[in-house]
Amino acid sequence: MSSLLVDDIGELVTNEPGGEGGPLGIRRGVALLVEDGRVAWIGPSRDAPAADRRLDARGAAVLPGFVDSHAHLVFAGDRAAEFAARMAGQPYTGGGIRTTVGATRAAGDDELRATVRRLRDEALRQGTTTMEIKSGYGLTVADEARSLRIAAEVSEETTFLGAHVVPAEYADRPDDYVGLVCGPMLAAAAPHARWIDVFCERGAFDVDHARAILACGQAVGLGVRVHANQLGPGPGVQLGVELGAASVDHCTHLTDADVDALASTRVDGGHTTVATLLPGAEFSTRSPYPDARRLLDAGVTVALATDCNPGSSYTSSMPFCVALAVREMRMTPAEAVWAATAGGARALRRDDIGRLGVGARADLIVLDAPSHLHLAYRPGVPLIRQVLRNGVLQ
Ligand SMILES: [Zn+2]
Repeated sequence: MSSLLVDDIGELVTNEPGGEGGPLGIRRGVALLVEDGRVAWIGPSRDAPAADRRLDARGAAVLPGFVDSHAHLVFAGDRAAEFAARMAGQPYTGGGIRTTVGATRAAGDDELRATVRRLRDEALRQGTTTMEIKSGYGLTVADEARSLRIAAEVSEETTFLGAHVVPAEYADRPDDYVGLVCGPMLAAAAPHARWIDVFCERGAFDVDHARAILACGQAVGLGVRVHANQLGPGPGVQLGVELGAASVDHCTHLTDADVDALASTRVDGGHTTVATLLPGAEFSTRSPYPDARRLLDAGVTVALATDCNPGSSYTSSMPFCVALAVREMRMTPAEAVWAATAGGARALRRDDIGRLGVGARADLIVLDAPSHLHLAYRPGVPLIRQVLRNGVLQ
């Protein structure tokens, strides 16, 4: 059994009860012992037990690794030209997804695998120690199954998103496509997936199709997530609450009834539906940001994630999302850091990550800064000095 002592921590964000900073549970001048990939002890540096190795944080801030609970990494090609056109004034409609579907179907496994690993590594260098990965650019039985198989090589949090859009070959018979998703596609995907997700939006899947698909996924043991209320008001958020979704994602256009529905889930022991906000998408589509304050003030659990994908949010950077959330969505730095760590863990129904307490997984980041405040205060700066995943220095 090998042990590692992370010592001389100036500010430790624990996301545990006690400590300073409300839910961040900040402790100062402490050390943290890692044994067998888990946090084994936290206490004053002077009381630190002996360990095989020592990592000197040199007075810096140490945080739980970021939990990015929403990413689309299995694809081929890019859509830089579409981004440029959008920045020149064209609106975002979601139709570009079909461009990526064509490129993904044409790609070999090794090409897809290389992209997934490149983006996963890019995120890791920016402090992300858990990353959910969705399928959704294959949209055939074989291509969805291989997308999830490749995703599962690098993440235990994999999501079947066969209902991303209706592919062109089913454009005039969406009922048949829903039948395919619920039948052979789900059967091929489920062995490689933990979650099922649907893009419930005008131009994608209506509420009846979305409910049918999510119910099929639940019936084979998959947890529910929903892409909801991104491009306009709609039924997605309330559908997610109705089905006990772990998370409803985007939440850009909400009614009072949507907010009330989310708030009503927060006391249902362990089955909160989290509102996952994806400000990289609003940034990259030049759209109005979600109203995070309204959700927080209503008591809704909020997570932040990247939505990393080649069309509407091609960033893998959680620090960038934290900075956007603070500057553009009026979250406090503490709220944003919590949402990017503990919030993401809640959105994945995990209690072993997103926090640093005894027994938690030793997924942590050492900042090149004395405080978590610097993540938003110094946007665009590479502040992640070191990353430990399962207690192993990356
Ligand atoms: Zn998405």
